Amino acid sequence: LPEYAFIGRSNVGKSSLINMLTSRKSLAKTSGRPGKTQLINHFLINKNWHLVDLPGYGYARVSKSSKKIFQKFITEYFGLRQQLVCGFVLIDIRHKPQPIDQEFMQLLGENGIPFSIIFTKADKLKPKAIDNYVNDYKTILLETWEEMPRYFITSSSKGIGKDDVLEYIDSLNNNLVL
Ligand code: GDP
Repeated sequence: LPEYAFIGRSNVGKSSLINMLTSRKSLAKTSGRPGKTQLINHFLINKNWHLVDLPGYGYARVSKSSKKIFQKFITEYFGLRQQLVCGFVLIDIRHKPQPIDQEFMQLLGENGIPFSIIFTKADKLKPKAIDNYVNDYKTILLETWEEMPRYFITSSSKGIGKDDVLEYIDSLNNNLVL
């Protein structure tokens, strides 16, 4: 089954977003691979795709070696996953662009994984401020990337953006079948 991975810095709102995207009805949490630390959680959605919950990165004070371990782990995950259709990189809309997020997108690019951006906690900003934020973010990304990746604006507390993300995933799934 096609997989869609969700990842971002700790506290970005990933658990809340996953709760918003999944509904108890369609949700089945499947266990990680036996014998491995369950760093990765899989959720079967609508019986036709897996939502993959990857561990958060970028703890404030993380040693170089644990950064390396995390990178290795993630690279291995990406290297192994033929089913991975798209990675969703979560960005807290209240925070200035962070190098670690850029580095992470770089890592996805290097592994040939398409990615989209999900700006979280949109309820924290007024619409005008959201526009400004996204424009500034675009400017920075376009220094590295040829085009702005597909992006979504969400608020798990207000239920914003759920359908946009799910419809996008459905459209990608449909393209896979065709
Ligand atoms: P995770 O560490 O990335 O899984 O983040 P959590 O989902 O646990 O959320 C971290 C914190 O941000 C918690 O205090 C949440 O209540 C808060 N939070 C998450 N999503 C939203 C949101 O859409 N709006 C607001 N205002 N707060 C949020």
